Amino acid sequence: MHGLMMHGELTITTILRHAMRWHPGSEIVSRRTDGAIHRINYADLGRRIHKLANALARLGVKPGDRVATLAWNGWRHVEAYYAVSCMGAVCHTLNPRLFADQLGYIVNHAEDTVLLFDVTFAKLVEKLAPSWPTVRHYVALADAGAPPACDLPGLLNYEDLIAGESEDFAWPDLDERTACSLCYTSGTTGNPKGVLFDHRSQVIHALSVSGGDWLCLRQRDSVLPVVPMFHACAWGLPYAGLMNGVKLVMPGHGLDGPNLCELIDAEKVTLLAGVPTVWLEMLRHLKATGGRLDSVERLMVGGAAAPRSMIQTLEEEYDVRVVHGWGMTELSPVGTLSVPKAHMQDWPAEKRYAVQGLQGRPLYGVDMRIVDADGRELPHDGTAAGALQVRGPWVAGGYYRGDNPESFTADGWFNTGDVAAIDAEGFLRLTDRTKDVIKSGGEWISSIEIENVAVSHPAVQEAACIAITHSKWGERPLLVVVPKAGAAVDKADLLAFFEGKVAKWWIPDDVAVVEELPHTATGKLYKLGLRERFRDFVLPTDAN
Ligand code: ADP
Repeated sequence: MHGLMMHGELTITTILRHAMRWHPGSEIVSRRTDGAIHRINYADLGRRIHKLANALARLGVKPGDRVATLAWNGWRHVEAYYAVSCMGAVCHTLNPRLFADQLGYIVNHAEDTVLLFDVTFAKLVEKLAPSWPTVRHYVALADAGAPPACDLPGLLNYEDLIAGESEDFAWPDLDERTACSLCYTSGTTGNPKGVLFDHRSQVIHALSVSGGDWLCLRQRDSVLPVVPMFHACAWGLPYAGLMNGVKLVMPGHGLDGPNLCELIDAEKVTLLAGVPTVWLEMLRHLKATGGRLDSVERLMVGGAAAPRSMIQTLEEEYDVRVVHGWGMTELSPVGTLSVPKAHMQDWPAEKRYAVQGLQGRPLYGVDMRIVDADGRELPHDGTAAGALQVRGPWVAGGYYRGDNPESFTADGWFNTGDVAAIDAEGFLRLTDRTKDVIKSGGEWISSIEIENVAVSHPAVQEAACIAITHSKWGERPLLVVVPKAGAAVDKADLLAFFEGKVAKWWIPDDVAVVEELPHTATGKLYKLGLRERFRDFVLPTDAN
């Protein structure tokens, strides 16, 4: 028997309508590419979204067409998100930090027809345009009458393009399974893979992450997503934010400590979201200037492991609660968030930080399991580590154009490529990427755990632990570190620091001190590059 409730398709159009009708005065505040601040409320933003949809339709954009963006977090990018998806087309966010040949590949793989780009990327677009035969229109996200000086066929100017358009657009009645956005994972090995989100997955992901235990989004919140809209839809905040009527504070290209702190103070930001490196840089700036984070209540960190020392400093010195999460583009992207359970709230701080340092427990909507090499499920005892697999309505069921089918199991799970343990409370502890794990004498050493210990040493700024071939053990860990400014790293002292913190046989065999570590386009350690650099390195423990 069916229930008697009304049916409504879960589309991004419903978020747009809700935002315009019930939160017309809520604001989006953006740092422009020229550094100035731009403010717009949801009502005006909505009107411009309708104009943009009309302009794109006039350019020939049809349902299902891919419209690409190459842009920082800002109001025009939000307009593109909504106009493109709500008209039934697919908003394809390009990550400008990818290598040029990857960008070349992605645009052709997606067969984008229109590209909207921030003027800071004009030269990059100019260089790549000849290799993109499917792109018919280039639209610079520029002020009226101020197109960037670049040589692109049929270059259009965003403000001029939408200026004369109508503020009415008859949004189509979309099936909630209609594709709405496309995002490629950076693909540290092989070609990038396309994750094709649908309206339904974005809406329910946004609803779930808004919840009290997680982001706890309230209308009075002022939210600063440092995580870029070009990477996994800024963790869903452009949807969850408008759904809840929050003030969104968009940092544009200014992701450094001074810029962020200025925005936080001026806009009384209550919630921050970004990867650990951004917050480490912000903390350095705060320490140097004596700045505070008075308005900030919560800080969401993910994309890479958050060092426990960072969680502690933010709470004890700045009174900011850290919510550490794990996810990936294929999960829209949030999978787990590390909020202590009721009986953990009164635990001694140290013990609670340890929980917050884990990757967390799953949100409603995400199911997960860990399996051994034969696909057998492992117990949730906090120690058994295996391949992490997930499923749920906002988890990718396949890659765009059927790429990499081996990532999806026959019984309906997505193989994340991460290695993890799950404890009895359901908290996930990520130990590695499958390809980064160090296999020493048949046992696994977690590179993430080694790195976590290393960065808690007072002289260490950043650390990466990689496998080096060893004639006896197969592989042994090498620790590569960047010292803090003005500090010197003493190898013996650093290795002694590990004693009692990890199993004895986990302690790295050597330490290499470098000036800088390589990172991927999404800010993660680029271990593949690092392994190549140290390919011929011989460990002092290796007799041969
Ligand atoms: P990419 O495009 O680089 O693959 P993703 O954001 O999709 O970007 O990367 C997802 C991966 O990032 C995860 O599979 C995991 O390895 C890593 N990751 C994400 N969050 C965390 C975290 N909190 N701790 C450790 N690693 C994380």
